[in-house]
Amino acid sequence: MEQRIERIKKQLHSQSYKLTPQREATVRVLLEHEEDHLSAEDVYLLVKEKAPEIGLATVYRTLELLNELEVVDKINFGDGVSRYDLRKEGADHFHHHLVCIECGSVDEIQEDLLGDVEKVVEKDWNFKIKDHRLTFHGICHRCQEESGSNNKEHKESNQHVR
Ligand SMILES: [Zn+2]
Ligand SMILES: [Zn+2]
Ligand SMILES: [Zn+2]
Repeated sequence: MEQRIERIKKQLHSQSYKLTPQREATVRVLLEHEEDHLSAEDVYLLVKEKAPEIGLATVYRTLELLNELEVVDKINFGDGVSRYDLRKEGADHFHHHLVCIECGSVDEIQEDLLGDVEKVVEKDWNFKIKDHRLTFHGICHRCQEESGSNNKEHKESNQHVR
C-alpha cells in the first residue's frame, strides 16, 4: 500500500501536483476499497472517517484530478451514478465488469478479452484504440446458485404436500 501511494505521489508530481494530506486520505480509501466501485459520496463518507474536516467538494475535485491523471477510471453502470475505479498498475486497457441485475454485485475480469475485436476495429475502421469499457449485465454465479437451491427446496416441499 505504501509503495503504491509512493508511486501515485510520483505520478502527481510529474504533472506538478502535490499529494496533499486530503488527497492522500482519498487515495488511501480507494486503495483500501480496491474491490469496490465507490461513488464520490461513498468515498467522501469513508474519507471523512479519517479526515473529518474534509468536504465533499474537495473529495470530488480530488477524484476528478485522479481521473485526469489516469490513476482512477470513472465508470457508470447505467444507474446514473459515476463510480471511481482504481486503474490496475501496468494494465493498458480498462478491465471488464460483470454487473448482476439481481443482487447488484460487480465482479471484475482483469484479463483483456477484446484483443481480437480490437484488431478488427483497428483494421476495418482504421481506428486507433486507446481504451474501452465493457460491462456485462446478467445474473452472477452466486444468484444462480441461490435460485437453484430455492428451486430444489420448492420441489421438496411440493413433494411433502403430496
Ligand atoms: Zn472495476
Ligand atoms: Zn483492450
Ligand atoms: Zn447476483
